[in-house]
Amino acid sequence: MSAKVIDGKALSRTIREKLAGLVEKLKQQHQITPGLAVVLVGDDPASEIYVRNKARQTVEVGMQSFEHKLLPTVSQKELLDLIARLNADPAVHGILVQLPLPGHISDKQVIESIAPAKDVDGFHPENVGRVASGEGGIVPCTPMGSMMLIRDALGDIAGMNAVVVGRSNIVGKPMAQLLLAQNCTVTVAHSRTRDIPALARTADILVAAVGRPEMIKGDWVKPGACVIDVGINRVLNVGGEGYRVVGDVDYREVAEVAACVTPVPGGVGPMTIACLLANTYLATLAIHGISSDATF
Ligand code: NDP
Repeated sequence: MSAKVIDGKALSRTIREKLAGLVEKLKQQHQITPGLAVVLVGDDPASEIYVRNKARQTVEVGMQSFEHKLLPTVSQKELLDLIARLNADPAVHGILVQLPLPGHISDKQVIESIAPAKDVDGFHPENVGRVASGEGGIVPCTPMGSMMLIRDALGDIAGMNAVVVGRSNIVGKPMAQLLLAQNCTVTVAHSRTRDIPALARTADILVAAVGRPEMIKGDWVKPGACVIDVGINRVLNVGGEGYRVVGDVDYREVAEVAACVTPVPGGVGPMTIACLLANTYLATLAIHGISSDATF
């Protein structure tokens, strides 16, 4: 079997085009321009590229982008003061603080200081609780994008067995909740799970969010399954020259067994940014009390 490649680049482009139209309409009908503030602490080159990408795509869909680059030595108080200003700024509808933060700053306190209505990453406990209990809330971008890819590939997934490998707060756990909300039977595996290959073989939908390069092998996958690879891992090239990016799935092997699989890069990654923009648009509507039937 040769799997269908799930094209996250193409779907993310479709979402961004749809968003550009919705943002234009919002500007014309309500004179409101959604604004996304991204805060980057330190000078990690990978984070800088990611933040630059986000800013470019924000502007491309017609939103305002506010970038705040802070020195790695910034104090927690200075960062919290900036977030308080962004919370109060009517031009800002979404706030994203690039994680991880330097060791002297508490990720938890920073996340909790973001106004839940502007928490477009969906990490604030209020949003986590709402999503978990099915009461709305802002859905974290990576699981949201992964779910869009699954729905686009499979349609109705009610009754399917889903296995999520990884239980982080930002990917694994919310992913499991979204699959449960779509009436899948969900199992979450982690570093203490016994016999993950056997468990993975029960999955109609297998989501890998582990951070271990090419861990999921072809013989871990049920023939005909849908495999979503969230992983982004930089590995040294054979021969030791330069790096390449691989997922948590051994793509070559898994593509022989699965019915469909996301590539890395070009799968979940582009969907994460598209969902961040969708969340910023939805946050703008909610903040201004504008109802809409826009879905993503
Ligand atoms: P974390 O490190 O926070 O969590 C990893 C999870 O995998 C943990 O629950 C851990 O289990 C589990 N795990 C680790 N090793 C094993 C193992 N050998 N067997 C079984 N389970 C294991 O990672 P994230 O959730 O933040 O990210 C996961 C991957 O997704 C990374 O590659 C990351 O780069 C990528 N990512 C991609 C994004 C995108 O936009 N595409 C966005 C965010 C992340 P335990 O809890 O027991 O320790």
